[in-house]
Amino acid sequence: MHSEIKEILISEEEIQAKCKEIGAQLTEEYEGKFPLAIGVLKGAMPFMGDLLKRVETHLEMDFMDVSSYEGMRSSGEVKIEKDLNTQVEGRDLLIIEDIIDSGLTLSYLVDLFKYRKAKSIKIVTLLDKPTGRTSHIKADIIGFEVPDEFVVGYGLDYDEKYRNLPYIGVLKPEVYGG
Ligand code: 5GP
Ligand code: MG
Ligand code: MG
Repeated sequence: MHSEIKEILISEEEIQAKCKEIGAQLTEEYEGKFPLAIGVLKGAMPFMGDLLKRVETHLEMDFMDVSSYEGMRSSGEVKIEKDLNTQVEGRDLLIIEDIIDSGLTLSYLVDLFKYRKAKSIKIVTLLDKPTGRTSHIKADIIGFEVPDEFVVGYGLDYDEKYRNLPYIGVLKPEVYGG
């Protein structure tokens, strides 16, 4: 599988160091609170696991799975595949994402959680691709900025593969061809 990777953009060590750094920041920000950490499936799963191990306050975890309607990406219309099991009213929310590209998914989620009367909403994303942005959304905490290239690994897939790589990389062009 690793032979299909052209280049490693962010190494396993860099990711782990970043999780430690952001974890310390979140520990301070949520001291004495009981935030609800919301992982956006499936891509945020490895990041959520490694990051939250580094947060030293009590917190609750839940997951949400959303998909953009086929052919309607630009409208920002998003379908909920799996909703939360937790009430968000009055809660401090920490949304955890793998990557923000257009920002439409997150913009939908933030509106939804505001409607559901969350007390506060923070977004942490491992990766940010600012060149892809078509909505106003901005993460509160960003791990790494990436160029306008399709990246895989550490939760991010191509055709459901490569999520289990411990680093972020770029595929060899022939992988897309086959
Ligand atoms: P958006 O911000 O455009 O609403 O959507 C972000 C989602 O698109 C991410 O959660 C991810 O699933 C997918 N995505 C965006 N850029 C990339 C990329 O470079 N690689 C992969 N594997 N997925 C991406
Ligand atoms: Mg995602
Ligand atoms: Mg995907």
